[in-house]
Amino acid sequence: MAAITRFSKPSAISHVRRCLYSSSAVAAESNQHAPSPFGDYKITRRNPSERNVQWVFLGSPGVGKGTYASRLSNLLGVPHIATGDLVREELASSGPIAKQLTEIVNQGKLVSDEIIISLLSKRLKAGEAKGESGFILDGFPRTINQAEILKGVTDIDLVVNLRLPESVLIEKCLGRRICGQCGKNFNVASIDVKGQNGSPAICMAPLLPPSSCMSKLVTRSDDTEEVVKERLRIYNEKSQPLEDYYRNQGKLMEFNLPGGIPESWPKLLEALNLDEFDERQSVAA
Ligand code: ADP
Repeated sequence: MAAITRFSKPSAISHVRRCLYSSSAVAAESNQHAPSPFGDYKITRRNPSERNVQWVFLGSPGVGKGTYASRLSNLLGVPHIATGDLVREELASSGPIAKQLTEIVNQGKLVSDEIIISLLSKRLKAGEAKGESGFILDGFPRTINQAEILKGVTDIDLVVNLRLPESVLIEKCLGRRICGQCGKNFNVASIDVKGQNGSPAICMAPLLPPSSCMSKLVTRSDDTEEVVKERLRIYNEKSQPLEDYYRNQGKLMEFNLPGGIPESWPKLLEALNLDEFDERQSVAA
């Protein structure tokens, strides 16, 4: 896996880092009193000038965190770690906690910190053993408590908050499909929201699968209208406070998605100061 310093434009990330390092020192002092659910585990840090990015993606269900986090992870050569995927892997494994998790996930509720941190630390430790030193986290932290716990383990560089209007989020969740064979995500929803009250119009073409995936599409069991509304309610209650939490630390970058991938991806790269990276040089994570 390539370190970020190998890229043709190293100043791009160091620009983001420079903005953030002053607040990082404050963050490192957190959680000195409470025992961490991660135990003694600390994410190994190289020399900060060399370490790979440690970013967090925030955003409501359906906003596209997974899509953009995964694209950036390929571009930057760091793994994309989505706690929702870790939960779904655990469900598929039929392990001892699978039954309990199925009920929670299908009601749109949050899994306990204990379980989620156990899944995440297992994934981080396995990655570290393979030489991973950076990551893009998607779906964690989801509460202030999880953010405090994470702060005791490492010092996040940047938090990207993706935003879309709520009506679009529901349509996008209901249109989400996954290929049961290759695992790729698609979306059959065609979004066409008129601009009103000063907010811009949003058009998103469906992200359709190739014909080889078409007959294998599945819908996530928690992507029903009732469960999506409950997940959005829980997000607003428990996860939205994270925006202020990271804003106060100078780590939050807000990004209103202007449309689908063709419009949003170049603008996101520009906002991250990565727009001059040559994507052909990107390294598969
Ligand atoms: P969403 O589309 O709602 O963002 P995810 O794929 O991120 O969905 O997560 C699916 C489910 O996994 C969540 O509804 C929740 O039950 C569980 N989950 C994922 N991450 C966390 C977390 N950090 N804390 C608690 N539960 C989580």
